[in-house]
Amino acid sequence: MRILIKGGKVLLREEEQFKVTRGDVIVKDKLIDKIILEDGAKTKNNVEHFDKVIDASDTLVMPGLINAHTHAYMSIFRNYADDLEFFDWLNSVEVVEDKMTGEDCYWTSLLSIIEMIKTGTTCFVDMCMKSSIDGVKNGPKSVVSGAVNDSGMRAFIGRGLVDIVGEEGAKRRLNEFLEDMKLNVDNERINYILAPHAPYSCSHEYLGEISKVASENNMLATIHVAESETEVKNIKTEFGVTPVKYVDDTRLFDNPVVIAHAVNLTDKDVKILKEKNVSVAINPRSNMKLGNGFANVQKLLDAGINICLGTDGSGSNNTQNMFQEMQFASLVYKGSAKRAKCMDAEGVLEAATINGAKALKMEGHLGELKEGALADIVILDLNVPEFVPQNDLVSALCYSANGSEVKTVLIDGEVVMEDRIILTLDEKEIYEKCNGIVNRLGMSIE
Ligand SMILES: [Zn+2]
Repeated sequence: MRILIKGGKVLLREEEQFKVTRGDVIVKDKLIDKIILEDGAKTKNNVEHFDKVIDASDTLVMPGLINAHTHAYMSIFRNYADDLEFFDWLNSVEVVEDKMTGEDCYWTSLLSIIEMIKTGTTCFVDMCMKSSIDGVKNGPKSVVSGAVNDSGMRAFIGRGLVDIVGEEGAKRRLNEFLEDMKLNVDNERINYILAPHAPYSCSHEYLGEISKVASENNMLATIHVAESETEVKNIKTEFGVTPVKYVDDTRLFDNPVVIAHAVNLTDKDVKILKEKNVSVAINPRSNMKLGNGFANVQKLLDAGINICLGTDGSGSNNTQNMFQEMQFASLVYKGSAKRAKCMDAEGVLEAATINGAKALKMEGHLGELKEGALADIVILDLNVPEFVPQNDLVSALCYSANGSEVKTVLIDGEVVMEDRIILTLDEKEIYEKCNGIVNRLGMSIE
């Protein structure tokens, strides 16, 4: 399959900076085969040589965004249990969560995926706190991987691992995860990541065991760390260390790890993260909404830590829209650091693209448009007020865009959305299913 994306403005990386140039992008099967720059002149690619031609005039062609931390199945908690303190919120959500079936999680994950595709996300890192293998639909598929498989999305899927409620459950969760991995070996869009939940929900021993599984299988891991002041206080009281040190002592950081949140870090914590090459997925909207404050991003930047960006689940955000997250990240961290250069447009866009790829050990394959990279491509309509005038399109992506400009999306070389119509899913069916689930669980009156 050869696709020509013709005559758009293309967002490229040049000498570690973003650059917008006019040109054609040629996709062959799963990969970007060629990028032909024309510097404003009409391109000469003969359209007859392609299976499909996408007219990209008046559009910006850019790499798909990478959401480095979310819980896709939590879409039905959107605008539910809002305005509660963090641990009260967590308890309210857990009561309903316990009643969700695997099939529920399949449909609710699809709801998040629709929102992601429509706002330019082509890859996400997921932590699912529900059983991952009882949502079977149309064959050997599990909850999130089934949704990823059916939608054409790309993801790094993790089963939320906790052991505070007993050793038996802890073992079961880890085994389920390892079983799930075997179901999807043939699908290159489905990747796996070990996902211990948090220092307050995983014992030292359990994290040590997970760390061993990670190193034996050469796997990535992700974990919530230092999300709230209460967490830091409790870990300090019980173990005499910070959450970062607690995790480091289990040797988890000897593997490639993405920590989410990192809101309350000491200088020593930052030093550990740098030494162990840990990536940090910042989640500004979730942190602010739950009243947890905000990460000291300037400190992380000064230390040279790889910062990527995540939305967190829709229960605490309440969207999966990475454009909103980019804008918020820039404004919040500038405001808190009192420095206009903290998380500038370039830095925020890096966090949402190439830094996510670095964190997932996919540098060169994801997060940028280049020949030989995977064809995860987003095409945005430039004929909208927020892109006029085009003084600086990188700034516009960060400060002006809202995600509704996303017109067409390719993932793994497949067109999954064209002119805002999702081709892989029945949107209406998914909305109906999710509304039905909410009603059945007694979350809303209608
Ligand atoms: Zn989370």
